[in-house]
Amino acid sequence: MDFTDSPEEAAYRAKARAWLEENAPKYAVKRGAAMEDDESHDDMARGKAWQATKAAAGYAQITWPKEWGGAGGTPMQAVIFGQEEARFGVGFGYFTIGLGMCVPTVMAFADEATKTRFVGPALRGEEIWCQLFSEPSGGSDVAAARTRAVRDGDDWIINGQKVWTSGAHYSDFGIVLVRTNPDAPKHKGLTMFWIDMKSPGIEVRPIHQMSGGSNFNEVYFTDVRVKDSQRLGAVDDGWKVSLVTLMNERLAVGGGTGIDYSMILKLARELKTDQGTALGDQAFREKLADWYVQSEGLKFTRFRTMTALSRGQTPGPESSIGKIIAANQLQELSNAAVELEDQYGIIDDAELAPLSAAFQGGLLSAPGLRIAGGTDEILKNIIAERVLGLPGDIRVDKDVPFKDMPTGR
Ligand SMILES: Cc1cc2nc3c(=O)[nH]c(=O)nc-3n(C[C@H](O)[C@H](O)[C@H](O)COP(=O)(O)OP(=O)(O)OC[C@H]3O[C@@H](n4cnc5c(N)ncnc54)[C@H](O)[C@@H]3O)c2cc1C
Repeated sequence: MDFTDSPEEAAYRAKARAWLEENAPKYAVKRGAAMEDDESHDDMARGKAWQATKAAAGYAQITWPKEWGGAGGTPMQAVIFGQEEARFGVGFGYFTIGLGMCVPTVMAFADEATKTRFVGPALRGEEIWCQLFSEPSGGSDVAAARTRAVRDGDDWIINGQKVWTSGAHYSDFGIVLVRTNPDAPKHKGLTMFWIDMKSPGIEVRPIHQMSGGSNFNEVYFTDVRVKDSQRLGAVDDGWKVSLVTLMNERLAVGGGTGIDYSMILKLARELKTDQGTALGDQAFREKLADWYVQSEGLKFTRFRTMTALSRGQTPGPESSIGKIIAANQLQELSNAAVELEDQYGIIDDAELAPLSAAFQGGLLSAPGLRIAGGTDEILKNIIAERVLGLPGDIRVDKDVPFKDMPTGR
């Protein structure tokens, strides 16, 4: 395991930091507890302008080939830039799903004309994409999608419902996974399309979240027409296409949560309690020791992933460990910190609450983080099967035609 930058990595970090210091401050935003984009016109305009600035300098998608507007850089350079960028308050989330998952899928499966039409505008932040996979009947089990598409000449007609679609309400385009062959087993009758979110028959209904935001949506499809030329991959081969998207999702979700052990240590040191400070409380000190050990484990797991990237290897399924630990620790630390703040814990104003309401934000976003991009249980299954080599989960519906699967009705 390597703990320090190689000379090349250190030089890249210095270059990226200098560029960020010159360019990022004028786009920086101080966010409140919700830790989400505030989605006002101003925030979106600022996010788009920052994205365009990065694209012009080759920092928007560092690992993409130069011909598609990237820098042809290494995954390690992308990690370094991300670490440095995180210090400037320019973490706009509008483009993460599009550039991290949807557009790479389009790049892998679309024809040249489609790629030429979409890649540049997405990279420059001019168009936003969403991922329409989860449904009421299938989130962990994406292959159980019931939204169906039926062929009609050169078109397909889509009917059904998606749910939890982040950013659907402001997205221009999306990729949608639909059932095209109910006679085949569930993984073998799916097809993927790109879709214009303004198409007639698409209705987007925002879901109100406990954080106060409405970042994701229900999306209803009623006789929505798409051209066969919008298909990504072969008919009924959408599972293979979705694996490309999901593989990119795991890499995109694997970063830090913005809250770590040092922040609660600072709070425990500074906040006055009946015992003086929380640091003087024996029971709280024990908790701090546990979190410290966990944080060190998390840090070394991340170093392991970074070492693999630095050596040109692809991180394996063990990166799922980082996501489980980080999301659960975020929930525990935030909960303890908000309790420690007592009646002030309910103040989620970034100007008034300690550490810019980071813990209030953590408390509200941690449950979602434990679900998005693979729930705790699904990731534990991955670790059990693919890291530890334990026997696989029982999959009774693997070879059953989809139309014969029980629906509960
Ligand atoms: C913040 C956020 C953003 C999201 N954004 C998007 C998006 O943009 N696009 C999109 O398509 N989806 C999105 N999702 C949906 C997300 O992918 C699903 O919520 C997730 O995959 C879980 O699916 P589900 O909610 O249907 O739960 P279910 O799959 O119904 O799971 C319910 C419970 O059963 C457990 N469970 C399920 N299967 C197993 C098993 N085999 N073994 C053990 N336990 C199991 C789960 O762990 C969970 O506790 C988002 C979710 C969140 C929270």
